[in-house]
Order: sequence, then structure tokens, then C-alpha cells
Amino acid sequence: MNLTRRGFFKVVTAAGAAAAIRTPSGHAASATDLQNTIGCLVDTTLCVGCRKCEQACNERNQLPKPRESFDEMTVLENERRMDETTYTVVNKYYPKHIGALTWRTRPSFVKFQCMHCNDPSCVSACIVGALTRQENGAVVYDAAKCIGCRYCMIACPFQVPAYEYHNALTPQVRKCTFCFEDIEKGGPPACARVCPREAVTFGRKADLLRLANWKMKSNPGRYVNHIYGEHEVGGTSWMYLASEPFKTIGFPELGTKAPPRLTEAIQHGMFQYFAAPVALYAVLGGIMWGTGYLKRALRKSETRNDTDSKGAEE
Ligand code: SF4
Ligand code: SF4
Ligand code: SF4
Repeated sequence: MNLTRRGFFKVVTAAGAAAAIRTPSGHAASATDLQNTIGCLVDTTLCVGCRKCEQACNERNQLPKPRESFDEMTVLENERRMDETTYTVVNKYYPKHIGALTWRTRPSFVKFQCMHCNDPSCVSACIVGALTRQENGAVVYDAAKCIGCRYCMIACPFQVPAYEYHNALTPQVRKCTFCFEDIEKGGPPACARVCPREAVTFGRKADLLRLANWKMKSNPGRYVNHIYGEHEVGGTSWMYLASEPFKTIGFPELGTKAPPRLTEAIQHGMFQYFAAPVALYAVLGGIMWGTGYLKRALRKSETRNDTDSKGAEE
């Protein structure tokens, strides 16, 4: 194919701009939605672990500064997770086995953040609609609606949402926003914009899949034959290419079925059993109120009878 990666990047970025339409859907992506879904393709074979994306994310979202500066590379020696002050982390994974090819002797660097699932478990688990999936693929959070139940944290198959436990007055759930305001205007998000290696490509999901397949075809032996996020949990807006099996570089092995179908079944079960006690309490309350009314009416009638009989005796 006569198309450079940079050329492809420009094409998909323009396509992403055209596709960045904000229409709240709040639920699962339909086949039509997927035509409009935008996302990012992370090529982990290009990432050098410079942490510029972490820094850009921190600044774009005005998050607290970390204890160690973003120039500190020793933090890569420990596997880290996102938390309430960190929406993205880059981890370093040493090869499990050294292959004949030299590029396989280098460690893999992997950027993690919310995957912005097509059918997000967090959205499905949230009973007040504080998390919604927008038609462009971003899964966004509305702190004003959140009641702090943290069902989203339990439901997420990637264990992404974090909670501000230290914030006693106004705690919020925190996770990558997909730089929603930026992608709404055509993007790309801050982390993709800053990457000096162009390891993160932003664009329409259909174009990103074409790019991923083109890269695998054009570079035999460079990638494992798997686009992580194409099918996992029903598909995600963020997708990955890698030189190592994904389970060896920090990715959970997940099925293709979207967990919301499971969480909804659990919720419906819960509410089904919740409904019975509510109905029972309503009936009991009605009986108690009715009994009280009856007793009061009887007392009034007895008092009236007493008064009438006293009047008759006089
Ligand atoms: S900015 Fe790019 S190269 Fe640097 S760590 Fe992030 S993804 Fe990797
Ligand atoms: S990765 Fe987790 S938090 Fe992000 S959209 Fe999917 S279920 Fe929600
Ligand atoms: S998309 Fe925005 S919020 Fe999400 S990791 Fe990138 S910079 Fe951070």
C-alpha cells in the first residue's frame, strides 16, 4: 500500500474530526454508532516509555503533580495502575523470552487508560446515569449525578475507575475523560498529540482498524496477530498492537461478550428481589395505617356512644 504512516495519521485525524459528534446515548453502541466511533490505536512497538503522555494528561486535566517528576524513569521499574490523580500510566514489561529478532530483545512499554468500551460495564452498572457513553465513543462522567455507590469500580473489567477516598466532602469517581472537550472539536486528545513517537494514533475506529491490519501485513513478524480491543468485551475505542502476547504485557484475557449483559442480569435480579420487600413494606404500612385509622375511628365512636348514653341517663 502506497501510504506512509504519517499520511495515514493525517487521514484518520481528519476523519476523526468529522466524526466527533456529541450525541449522548448513555448505553451500548449500535452498528451505526460504530461508524461514528472514534478512538486511538496504541502501537506499543513504537513506545519508548518517555512518559510525555502521562505529563500531558496531568496538565490537560489539571491533576495534582506527582511526587516524582515526569522525567524520573525509575518509576517504570514497578508496574503501576491508574488512580484518582493519574488517568494514564506507562508500564515497562521485559520480554518473557528472547526471540531471534533483535526488536524482541527490548522491553515493551505500554500506556494504559480507560478503554472507552463500546458497551461499557461502568455505564450499565451506574443506577443514576452518572456515566454515559457518547456517540463518538467517549465514556464520560457527570459528578453532579454521582451518588458515590462505586458500582462502576466493581463492574469495570479493566479496573479503571478510581475514587477520591481522601476527599471527605465532595468525593468523585476519576478516570480518563478521553479529553472529551478536545475530541468534540476534532481532537486529538492531549496524550496522542504529545507523543514524540506517534505511538498513539487518533481517528475513526474503522480507519484505525484498517491501519492496524495494514501495519501487521506490512511488517511480517513485528506484531502478534491480535488487535487488542477490536473484539474484547464487545470492542473498545482504544486498541493496541504489540510484539508480545497481550497477557504478558499487562492486559487481562477477556471474552468478546460485553459484561454489561451480565451486570444488567445481576441488577435486574437484585431489583426483582428488592421489589418484593418494598411491596411487602407498602402493604404492611398500609395495614398499620389502616389499623391505626380503624382504632382511632373505634375510639371516637366509643367516646360518642359514652357521651350519648350519659346524656340519655340525665
Ligand atoms: S508519549 Fe508516546 S512514546 Fe512516550 S511513553 Fe507515551 S506513548 Fe510512549
Ligand atoms: S474501561 Fe472500564 S471505566 Fe472505561 S469505559 Fe470500559 S468499563 Fe467503563
Ligand atoms: S485521552 Fe485525555 S484524559 Fe485520557 S489518558 Fe489521554 S490525555 Fe489523559
